[in-house]
Amino acid sequence: MEKICAAQGCNKRISKRMLMCLEHWRMVPFSMQARIQRKQSDWKQHRRVEAGGQRASKEWVKAKNEAIAHVRQLQIIRNEI
Ligand SMILES: [Zn+2]
Repeated sequence: MEKICAAQGCNKRISKRMLMCLEHWRMVPFSMQARIQRKQSDWKQHRRVEAGGQRASKEWVKAKNEAIAHVRQLQIIRNEI
C-alpha cells in the first residue's frame, strides 16, 4: 500500500499510513506531528460513529493542511519549490 508524499513537489512513494516522506515529516514541528498522529487515531476510532467520524476527520484534515503549509513555507525559504 503506497501513496505519494503530501509535500508540494515531492513525488516520493511512502507507506499509506504516513503523511509525508521522512525528509519532509522531519520539517514538521513535533507539536504538529503529535496533533496529526492523535487526530489520525481519533479518526479511526470514531469512523464507525458517523457524525463523530466526520468531525474528527475534518479536524484531522485541518491539522494535516497546517503541516503541509508549514513544510511549504520552509520549502520556499530553502528554494525547493
Ligand atoms: Zn516528501
